[in-house]
Amino acid sequence: MQDSVHNCVIVGSGPAGYTAAIYAARANMNPIVYTGKEPGGQLMITTDVENYPGYPDGIMGPEMMEDFRKQAERFGTKVINEIIVKADLEGPIKKIWSETGDEIHAHTIIIATGASAKWLGIPSEQRLMNNGVSACAVCDGFFFRGQEVVVVGGGDTAAEEATYLAKLCPKVHLLVRRDEMRASKIMQKRVEKTENLIVHWNTETVEINGEEAVESVTVKNNKTGEESIIEAKGFFVAIGHKPNTGLFTGVLDMDGSGYLKTTPGTSRTNVEGVFASGDAQDNVYRQAVTAAGTGCMAALDAERYLAEKEII
Ligand code: NDP
Repeated sequence: MQDSVHNCVIVGSGPAGYTAAIYAARANMNPIVYTGKEPGGQLMITTDVENYPGYPDGIMGPEMMEDFRKQAERFGTKVINEIIVKADLEGPIKKIWSETGDEIHAHTIIIATGASAKWLGIPSEQRLMNNGVSACAVCDGFFFRGQEVVVVGGGDTAAEEATYLAKLCPKVHLLVRRDEMRASKIMQKRVEKTENLIVHWNTETVEINGEEAVESVTVKNNKTGEESIIEAKGFFVAIGHKPNTGLFTGVLDMDGSGYLKTTPGTSRTNVEGVFASGDAQDNVYRQAVTAAGTGCMAALDAERYLAEKEII
């Protein structure tokens, strides 16, 4: 057990967590970052990042997260490569426990645990990850301009990703596993109106084909059992995300999908001294730059809280 109470502990190490750390460290809050099980977050499985301002030539996701970490450490942030497995957020002193059994006490906690894309779970999807397989059209669509692509899913994300890609690609194939989409009516209309977007109803993915990169996709109509091949270079999985917030179930307010709720315009959760940032509380934008922005908000909110309580 630690004998001191830290000013600020940040749980998670994507753009939100490290940005919160940079701000908190520069405000003399001596933050500690617990990186979690995917240090660097979702960007560690992203290749080129071309839409983060300040990198005119683009940067590899892992390299960018290394820069974030170094910048946070430069101002004194302590980064610990461990997973937080338990939390007790009641009262003014928050308690969290790491996987190795350490009990950590803090006046403020910033949650930046992110979200994970859901995957279909077929082996070729893992094998061709970043070689044509992606879960983010805004991040990776640009690399497939001028080429045919497949999008899987029937919700708002799939509709949004497919219509986005239709602006870059000559033909987009949307695979919907039922005979209707779950997406909002307005998004469904947009899908219908997009001429180069072809919806394949009742269609599931059998296999993504290609040795080094995606070359085609074998699909099956689940009504007729008939299999066919779609020639495509990109395969976008858009079947939803899962926020990594299970640790806080029953304690922090969440929406039906598990995204943390914050007071609008702030990073404050329903528990005093606990702030949420990044994809753990955002199911709309989900970009590195928006996550970094909310990480900054969380650090500033935590600093104000500590000042109000006359802790620093
Ligand atoms: P959803 O859970 O809404 O939809 C997931 C979709 O993927 C469903 O159509 C589902 O099919 C399909 N699916 C799930 N598993 C598989 C599988 N193994 N194989 C094939 N298809 C599968 O997730 P979204 O990410 O689309 O949306 C999440 C939330 O975020 C929603 O509330 C949405 O409205 C919101 N959102 C809002 C946006 C906006 O306002 N601009 C943009 C994006 C999301 P089935 O229907 O058969 O279950």
